[in-house]
Parts: sequence; C-alpha cells; structure tokens
Amino acid sequence: MSDSRFENLTIGILALQGAFHEHAVALEKCGATARKVRRRRELAGLDALIIPGGESTTIGKLMVSYHLLDEIKGLGAEGLPMFGTCAGLVMLAREVVDGDQPLLGLMDIKVRRNAFGRQVKSFEAALDVQALGEDPFPGIFIRAPWIESAGPGVDILAEYDGHGIAARQDKMLVTAFHPELTDDLRLHELFLRMVYEDRR
Ligand code: GLN
Repeated sequence: MSDSRFENLTIGILALQGAFHEHAVALEKCGATARKVRRRRELAGLDALIIPGGESTTIGKLMVSYHLLDEIKGLGAEGLPMFGTCAGLVMLAREVVDGDQPLLGLMDIKVRRNAFGRQVKSFEAALDVQALGEDPFPGIFIRAPWIESAGPGVDILAEYDGHGIAARQDKMLVTAFHPELTDDLRLHELFLRMVYEDRR
C-alpha cells in the first residue's frame, strides 16, 4: 500500500542486467520514487539502492566495467541502505562458495550459488517470515542461492530446508527469492521502513 512516509524517498535500482523493472513498479506502488542506475552520476542523492536478480557474474563484471563496483562499495560502507534479491544477495555477500567473482562484500554472509540444484531451476514456496507477520510470503526461487553461513551481526529472517534465504544486517536486506515478481509488497515496505528510519 502507498504510504505517505515513503513519498520523499528516492530508491536507486541497479539496472545493468536482470529483473530491475519489477522493483521499480513495486517501489512506486509503495509510494516511493524509483530511479534506474546505470551510471555513476545516477547514484548521487539516493536514499537507498536495490541490487536486483539476474546473473551475479554478469552483474559483477558490468559493475567493474562501468566503474560502479568500488563506488557502490563505498556508499554501502558509508551506510547507504541496500536490498539485494537473488543475484543481488550474491553481490552483497562477502564470499561465494567455490567462486571467484567481483562482489560488493557488504554483508557478513557466505553464499552458495544455484544452491537448490541445477535441475530445480525454479519453484515456489510459502515462506514463514516472522518479521512480516503471520501470513506466509510467496517465495519465487529462480536458480536461487542460499546463505551457507553468516556472522554474528546477521539476522536470518527466513529459512527453507534449513538454509537461510532472507537476512538483515544493519541497513542491508537480502532475499534469495524474488519478492518483486509477486503482488506482495511486504518486503519492499520493510525495506522502505528501514530507509525511512535511517533518514530520521
Ligand atoms: N543463479 C544466479 C546467480 O548466482 C541468480 C539467479 C537469479 O537472480 N534469479 O547469480
């Protein structure tokens, strides 16, 4: 639902590759302003940034060649709130199991890519996410990662099959699934509340 508290928030969405448009639609439904980010100058003045799903190796390479990786790392270190979904979760991790790819490394999590097996490319599951209340959240998983291990500062918000699939650390939020592909706005609202509280 559109919330007047979110009216003055401008949220960037990294739009190099992947499912960025759907995030813009979800943010606008919540009452915030969405700005697609492809260039460094488009990062100026943002209240937060979403790193969308897609292919994390591709997103990482493009971030390096567009000179966005170090810039966004710096903004995260300075405290800019970020929300990573699926490949975005991988990008925010400090480490990938058996992987060597450019990462932002802003969250103390180690992740396994394509963790649910290559055969199981996608599935849906009703998820219990206490932070969102009683109603289950419709989780859409597409070649999803899971959180293999997490440091003490990380709050695991949801698990599936015993593995972390949503987490928060300070102003960073990640999900292994794709809330932007559903009509359920609760995770975008949770993120916007984090951003709003950060601004006060
Ligand atoms: N498998 C992709 C990766 O590891 C993530 C897939 C997705 O974002 N839907 O980057």
